[in-house]
Amino acid sequence: MKITVIGIGPGAYENLTIKAERALQACDVVIGYTVYVDLVKGYCGDKEFLSTPMKQEVDRCRRAFAEAKKGKKVALVCSGDAGVYGMAGLMYEVGEAYPEIEIEVIPGITAALAGAAVLGAPLTHDFAVISLSDLLTPWETIEARLRAAAQADFCISLYNPSSRKRKGYLKKACEILLAYKSPKTVCGYVKNIGREGEKMVVLSLEVLVDTEVDMFTTVFIGNASTKVIAGKMITPRGYRIEGM
Ligand code: SAH
Repeated sequence: MKITVIGIGPGAYENLTIKAERALQACDVVIGYTVYVDLVKGYCGDKEFLSTPMKQEVDRCRRAFAEAKKGKKVALVCSGDAGVYGMAGLMYEVGEAYPEIEIEVIPGITAALAGAAVLGAPLTHDFAVISLSDLLTPWETIEARLRAAAQADFCISLYNPSSRKRKGYLKKACEILLAYKSPKTVCGYVKNIGREGEKMVVLSLEVLVDTEVDMFTTVFIGNASTKVIAGKMITPRGYRIEGM
């Protein structure tokens, strides 16, 4: 008995890997958060679909094991990559109680990489990925990681930059970064990556601090070398270009 934990990428069918698509075709039942189950319904044929609400992650995992125990091939779907703020780790934790069931994780394109491609090439050098959600992580830890990443001049990709309950978190994060980084630091954000209404914006850190974004947005903060070329956000790798 096996459960496949599948990262479906940011949304569009084209961003699904071939391996993920094959696993979806081969399964009997698809389980996931309502929005993602609806996304895959469009392209994975006649399956049993079980959607569970947000914030019921442990129940969702147990559900997956219960279905697998019935002898069904289960696919648990997550957006982006299942191992990036997704359910892969939790599946292994809950799975300790189900040693007879094998777990396979199939990687997907995470929002940082899909969003980076929309913005140009903001993550060509060392980068850190930080989630601003304090639902499961104390804010002090998030703040310490923001400081450390800013001090070390990493490019930073911010997940969960905002939500209805967490308005003002992006502002707080930018204020911390501004203690170490120039206000002119090149930044960007992408909303609805690979989905209807995709929108990208390139701006400076001093403008980003006063910008409101929603929870379907991934934010990018450049390093000291990040620049704008043809309206795109580019972090150089450091190559010398002869004749320029
Ligand atoms: N497992 C997912 C991340 C889940 S955390 C992944 O690997 O991409 C949820 C956060 O991811 C959102 O708040 C947002 O910051 C980012 N995100 C996920 N999908 C996105 C999309 N299509 N467009 C923009 N941001 C997205």
